[in-house]
Amino acid sequence: MAYDFDLFVIGAGSGGVRAARFAAGFGAKVAVAESRYLGGTCVNVGCVPKKLLVYGAHVADELEQAAGYGWSLEEGHFDWGTLIANKNREIERLNGIYRNLLVNSGVTLLQGHARLTGANEVEVEGQRYTAEHILIATGGWPQIPDIPGKELAITSNEAFYLKGLPRRVLVVGGGYIAVEFAGIFQGLGADTTLLYRGDLFLRGFDGSVRTHLKEELEKRGLDLQFNADIQRIDKLEDGSLKATLKDGRELVADCVFYATGRRPMLDNLGLENTGVELDARGYIRIDEQYQTTAPSILAIGDVIGRVQLTPVALAEGMAVARRLFKPEQYRPVDYQNIPTAVFSQPPIGTVGLTEEQALEAGHKVQVFESRFRAMKLTLTDIQEKTLMKLVVDAETDKVLGCHMVGPDAGEIIQGLGIALKAGATKQQFDETIGVHPTAAEEFVTMRTVTR
Ligand code: FAD
Ligand code: NDP
Repeated sequence: MAYDFDLFVIGAGSGGVRAARFAAGFGAKVAVAESRYLGGTCVNVGCVPKKLLVYGAHVADELEQAAGYGWSLEEGHFDWGTLIANKNREIERLNGIYRNLLVNSGVTLLQGHARLTGANEVEVEGQRYTAEHILIATGGWPQIPDIPGKELAITSNEAFYLKGLPRRVLVVGGGYIAVEFAGIFQGLGADTTLLYRGDLFLRGFDGSVRTHLKEELEKRGLDLQFNADIQRIDKLEDGSLKATLKDGRELVADCVFYATGRRPMLDNLGLENTGVELDARGYIRIDEQYQTTAPSILAIGDVIGRVQLTPVALAEGMAVARRLFKPEQYRPVDYQNIPTAVFSQPPIGTVGLTEEQALEAGHKVQVFESRFRAMKLTLTDIQEKTLMKLVVDAETDKVLGCHMVGPDAGEIIQGLGIALKAGATKQQFDETIGVHPTAAEEFVTMRTVTR
């Protein structure tokens, strides 16, 4: 049967754009449907605008440090409207770049919501298209627990477009987004409280990292409340919001921001017209080749619920394009040792096993840990400490994990990701010459076993 397209991609986000562009580059006839915004979550309401707001918040640190370096500044003033307008302009520029990337690689771009009408058929704006392969790359969407008053709360989607910086913010959640946005709001001057339901936030990260970040955030005056969860939200007469906690306490704020995870975006996707099944957590079930239970349909990125990071969606998109249209170049995605950063203030950088995971996996573990005040702070009154930690297999000497909390952690951890992928040993770390004077050199000069 002749199809309209070799590949029909639903969703022009991180994974979808990568798969579409490369498939077209390999000679396939490709269409992409996008209902909302080119570039998807990452470009529009994720990584990119988030990082720009983090930079904005970080300026406050630079201003605080300036006096120690002899700079006297007039009292600063921050204008939310300017930051958001500039951010929006940059996002629009990126939307245009994504459009050009797709169109210039010969991809047919269809604007509108795509709905599966069969295992080889998609409907967009009343028009039906057939394709030999269909790729679902529809990403995710924030979810708020079902509590009374949930409609009064916002998520990251709305936070990027707030009209003004709220004076008092309650951030709910203890994952990446909660920690990052707590830093953004607080750094920009809002009175910020982070509420997390468990004992300590960032479940799954290394224990030393979690504790260290908690201490540093508290030093900065962030109000961290653990074992705390909201039962209901009510609007008060003056327009502010009252959050009643499960323990009966009441907190009043101007904005309640929920970052309690994301669900797969499957709304009106028409999966019922295909043989595509979901897994126990509600994400699209796939095999090792990203094939769903309907053989002509594949799925990648946040909608499969594996690792919700842009570079992972990109790698999955690439793998699918290669497997379908350039099989001789196909390489499976390596899910081991994925480096990642949390852009908190200070940020976290991490790659490999946490100490807890290494022990659980049965490794005999040596831990090297260092805490120090960054050189840049020595001329200031700021007492922030950087944490660096190596988790090493005592028998093989292989470095199993590298973890950091401190300035530029995300930048530093990228290179260590290559070292871990190459299987570096602690001895090879030790034999690597440091770059002096940097914080990063600490990773190659830690000699004393802490545990
Ligand atoms: P998406 O990028 O979400 O793209 C899906 C696209 O599909 C969207 O454009 C959507 O409009 C479209 N779509 C959905 N349904 C349909 C339909 N039926 N028809 C047509 N189009 C449809 N990751 C990092 O690596 N680093 C970070 O710093 C980072 N920061 C983040 C900050 C925030 C606030 C958030 C929310 C996420 C962040 N992420 C970050 C995660 C990252 O954004 C996602 O992992 C990544 O965007 C997933 O890519 P994707 O292709 O699966 O989906
Ligand atoms: P996460 O899954 O990282 O965190 C969700 C948090 O919300 C957890 O602390 C969880 O607690 C808590 N939670 C979940 N359900 C409830 C509930 N019903 N009531 C109260 N608390 C609840 O999700 P995020 O929304 O922070 O981010 C989504 C994903 O996006 C991340 O996992 C990450 O993959 C990606 N991302 C990456 C970034 C980066 O690379 N820098 C930045 C932002 C997002 P518990 O731990 O107890 O389950």
